[in-house]
Amino acid sequence: MAINVTVWNEFHHEKTDEAVKAIYPDGIHAYIKSFLDKEEDMNVTICSLDEPEQGLTDELLNKTDVLLWWGHMRHNDVSDELVAKVRARVLGGMGFMPLHSAHHSKPFKAILGTTGDLTWGRNQTAILWNLCPTHPIAKGIPAHFTLYEELYAEPFFIPKPDDLIFGTWYEDGNIFRGGATFTRGLGKIFYFHPGHESCESFKNEYVQTVIKNAVRWCAPVELKDGFKLDGCIHQQDGDAPYKASI
Ligand code: ZN
Repeated sequence: MAINVTVWNEFHHEKTDEAVKAIYPDGIHAYIKSFLDKEEDMNVTICSLDEPEQGLTDELLNKTDVLLWWGHMRHNDVSDELVAKVRARVLGGMGFMPLHSAHHSKPFKAILGTTGDLTWGRNQTAILWNLCPTHPIAKGIPAHFTLYEELYAEPFFIPKPDDLIFGTWYEDGNIFRGGATFTRGLGKIFYFHPGHESCESFKNEYVQTVIKNAVRWCAPVELKDGFKLDGCIHQQDGDAPYKASI
């Protein structure tokens, strides 16, 4: 069965900044959809902050297997009610992939429990080192590849990752845990740092491969009967799949 992927974007820079609009004329979310749509096992929906219910209706959220999240300027406009729903879905098994500046998004902080603060600097050459070549997220990725990206550097205030897939080196000398996995409840989470709005990282073939791999890795695992998870996994008729309560 296809993985239901939802790409959420605040969709702000692409409407207000001509340089960004030139790179992603239909929005970062639409661009990500364009390359995920080539995968037969993915069913991709896009949505954005200014749509009704901030783009994520209960119906869409409850059928989403993996949620990708891009936000930057308007994190605080996302309602706490929606954040609670997203967190509940992740704890119940929905995959979550915060991209780039989503390290400061409300869902990131609510799900991982830290500030997500990091050291920041100018756009520059970045080398992403493949630290975990046996991990499914790193499938097809060489030992290293190069991007032109915004500096995101340590210290990065995140919980200790389950696996550190990519470590990024910058020409200014900084380093960063640039691709890391976490588990919260039944939900699998992958944070990936490329994707500054004025860079073109989402057009890089390896970035696209990583995101495709990570969608598959983050997808919920079907559990057999017998798990008693207090509402996380239901056995009753009519419940939404992976419904969680917090
Ligand atoms: Zn950025």
